[in-house]
Amino acid sequence: GPKKASNIERDPVGVYCRIRPLGSEDEECCVEMISSTTIQLHAPDGLKANRNGEYKETQYSFKKVFGINTTQLELFEDIAKPLVEDLIHCKNGLLFTYGVTGSGKTFTMTGSPGEGGLLPRSLDMIFNSIGPFQAKRFVFKPDDKNAMEIQSQVDLRSPFKFADMISSEEACKSENVDEDCCYSVFVSYIEIYNNYIYDLLEDAPYDPIRSKPPQSKILREDQNHNMYVAGCTEVEVKSTEEAFEVFWKGQKKRRIANTQLNRESSRSHSVFTIKLAQAPLDADGDHILQDKNQVNVSQLCLVDLAGSERTNRTRAEGSRLREAGNINQSLMTLRTCMEVLRENQMCGTNKMVPYRDSKVTHLFKNYFDGEGKVRMIVCVNPKADDYEETVLVMRFAEMTQ
Ligand code: ADP
Ligand code: MG
Repeated sequence: GPKKASNIERDPVGVYCRIRPLGSEDEECCVEMISSTTIQLHAPDGLKANRNGEYKETQYSFKKVFGINTTQLELFEDIAKPLVEDLIHCKNGLLFTYGVTGSGKTFTMTGSPGEGGLLPRSLDMIFNSIGPFQAKRFVFKPDDKNAMEIQSQVDLRSPFKFADMISSEEACKSENVDEDCCYSVFVSYIEIYNNYIYDLLEDAPYDPIRSKPPQSKILREDQNHNMYVAGCTEVEVKSTEEAFEVFWKGQKKRRIANTQLNRESSRSHSVFTIKLAQAPLDADGDHILQDKNQVNVSQLCLVDLAGSERTNRTRAEGSRLREAGNINQSLMTLRTCMEVLRENQMCGTNKMVPYRDSKVTHLFKNYFDGEGKVRMIVCVNPKADDYEETVLVMRFAEMTQ
């Protein structure tokens, strides 16, 4: 039968570091991997001369550091695979990528052909695992929200097939699937921009002529005090390929909206949620579900955060400055929340965590409060030009552990 969905176990946020390779050989490097858990930043010579003593050679520690030769598969096995195992065992998971624009957040999450990231690998592992036990039919949707099929207004097909992302030798699978259950998978994909939430899978096309921005969504709390995006599209998917197609549709919508609204995509957060519904087989052993009370739902959220860089580094003007301010605000709220959480954990205090101060933290408050594992991958571009921003990223990471 199904396992219990609630799993309050306060597990501190796991913070990892991934160092991407330099873009070219001429670039100066400022990050050195000291051990499998420690890196050291080296201030570029120019900076040392200018700011006497302000930049020390500082070391930073993580749960684990992944060097430039780390493969996407290795990263998946260490970080995301345990979260997928949890998902199959009715536990929630949350995974962030954090870092400066260009540091490899999207590469880590999404990847490229031949180098599929954590998202396609997670989907692949889920379907490889539940494959034979997939529900033939779910009579209802996991929540009161209605899943819709997406009707393509433009050609939203993905630029490449899922099969190009991950070679079959790299496929992962859980051995712990409950064979007396059947499973269904639903995905949703939202973007948080300027502290507004947009549904990337919504049917309504963006209207470029009247230039009406897409309607934003609001957060609600259900009876179990879980936060959800009201009216958010959830698409039932039957295979990795199908799920990946849906992801790309969202990606494409995101790109179109960004271009038409003249937004900078590096300033938005994206959240891809994989929801797994499982229930015992019915009396005839059919993979058909009738009784809503028997269904357990768990979800894994994959969050590609906005670039952490400060506003003044980009050419921010007018409304863009305000947007930038808001983005920084939500990353700052994330930092504050993690700081307070850490303090509560270490000192046994019970200080209020200001989750409601931003959409990103509000949406995930229950994860931070212990209903699911939270993992963060701090991405780093080791180039010297990024040194000052990287110092800030490291201080953030330090705060959160
Ligand atoms: P971000 O999302 O943080 O802005 P991207 O993921 O878009 O950064 O990465 C910027 C560029 O660096 C991309 O061209 C990406 O393919 C490349 N890149 C990032 N990380 C790696 C890596 N670990 N190995 C190889 N290329 C990488
Ligand atoms: Mg990116």
